[in-house]
Amino acid sequence: MEQIRNLIGGEMLASLSGETLDNFNPSTGAVYSKVPDSGEADIDRAVQAATSAFPGWSGTPVNDRVALIMKLADLIDERAEDLAVAESRDQGKPLWLAKAVDIPRASANLRFFAHAVMNTKSVAFTDVNNVVEYINRSPIGPCALISPWNLPLYILTWKIAPCIATGNTAICKPSEMTPMTAGLFSELVIEAGFPPGVINIVHGLGSKAGQALVTHPDVPVISFTGGTKTGGHIAESVAHMFKKTSFELGGKNPNIIFADCDFEKAIRTSLRSSFLNQGEICLCGSRIFVEQSIYDKFVERFVAETDQLVVGDPMSKKSFVGALVSRDHLDKVLSYVELAKKEGGTVLTKTGVEGLSEAHKLGFYMRPTVITGLSPECRVQQEEIFGPVVTITPFTTEEEALTMANGVQYGLSASLWTSDNSRVHRLSKKIQAGTVWVNSWMYRNLRAPLGGMKSSGIGREGGDYSLNFFTETQNVSVSYSS
Ligand code: NDP
Repeated sequence: MEQIRNLIGGEMLASLSGETLDNFNPSTGAVYSKVPDSGEADIDRAVQAATSAFPGWSGTPVNDRVALIMKLADLIDERAEDLAVAESRDQGKPLWLAKAVDIPRASANLRFFAHAVMNTKSVAFTDVNNVVEYINRSPIGPCALISPWNLPLYILTWKIAPCIATGNTAICKPSEMTPMTAGLFSELVIEAGFPPGVINIVHGLGSKAGQALVTHPDVPVISFTGGTKTGGHIAESVAHMFKKTSFELGGKNPNIIFADCDFEKAIRTSLRSSFLNQGEICLCGSRIFVEQSIYDKFVERFVAETDQLVVGDPMSKKSFVGALVSRDHLDKVLSYVELAKKEGGTVLTKTGVEGLSEAHKLGFYMRPTVITGLSPECRVQQEEIFGPVVTITPFTTEEEALTMANGVQYGLSASLWTSDNSRVHRLSKKIQAGTVWVNSWMYRNLRAPLGGMKSSGIGREGGDYSLNFFTETQNVSVSYSS
């Protein structure tokens, strides 16, 4: 059985205890590899390696740092096929999606921040009082980078790239449910020739390895992407340590559809924003609000299209929806469908996955599910489900749509479908969401800020936002005599 290893100080290592965790293939339900069950001692070793590497790496000319990052991006492209297969097998997402999105985006993240760091500028102020002030932005030290299971290599590299491009060193803790591409990536880090300790990847449980990492006294920076509850727990654990923290958390995003929209495009895109990656994307639009005058037409068409989506083997080109990440997660998502029925909702879509081969019978599959008839206040419309389940609710006025859209604890993203430009500008600034997509979904410009309001997070990632996060800002104020 395949053994995944930690990358610590340039070496591929088992956990110091020798303990491992089972890693499941969600499409079959079977254990297919073993992950190090790392603990405090492994984390400590990785922090020491990152601390030792920091003076050398932060003192390396930016051109040389960038050359290594570009080489790593090239190696990802060379191994793109293997990485895509690994991501699909580990996470349950369709292979075509891993090939089209996850893996190309991983190398794009590295190249983007390599270019960005070469183009940073510093501001200077000159004052009439014989004072010149200029701004230094310096790397901070070893950074904890914690990533979730839904977009494993994509989010990991989204954090590693700005962290190391600005001269920091990294200790990463991927989700233990999807460690495979981080394992392959570790080999590429060594092949690219990074100095030992610049990038360390330690696998294991969040409650054990993750907690040891975020609370480590020698780690001054935490960049966390994951659930709101976990984010809150980490914030509480480290509040007294005054670390620099960034939290990218959960969402319950509204998808607001007005009667004057491009109906066909709204249907097509809403199918993707509801069910792409099995609905396991923090930016999925899980609450659809439709203007009353087109409500029946929208529901009928959306349900019919949803029932056509193929669910099954992630390796098959025909599958639009693969397997959910784990048995526990599948059970949780299905429990929300049961809850919806108790809360007065109606499930309009087909249930039960048909046509699975013998090998996939025990995989973690469910059909994409559309529910109507729920009040905006009920749990199913308030809590993040993070699976292929959406609710559709009618509205009659802009104000009503806005109240429902904002009526949750989350504020990550929103989609707005309308051809009325005045409405776009009027409503967008009232929607409590870090990103508002108008007549689209998940368009990503890596220079633009991404992040959440309210319980969806603190801080923004992307372009200068990431470069600022991974650096300390210092004002040097020089007084000179006339
Ligand atoms: P979790 O919060 O469960 O876990 C995220 C990561 O944190 C995992 O690596 C986890 O390890 C680790 N972790 C758990 N407990 C601790 C701890 N005490 N200290 C340090 N690390 C810890 O999230 P999921 O992996 O379930 O991911 C899904 C969530 O992520 C959803 O809520 C989704 O909305 C959110 N997300 C947000 C995004 C954004 O940009 N805002 C993007 C993508 C996802 P382990 O897996 O071992 O528990």
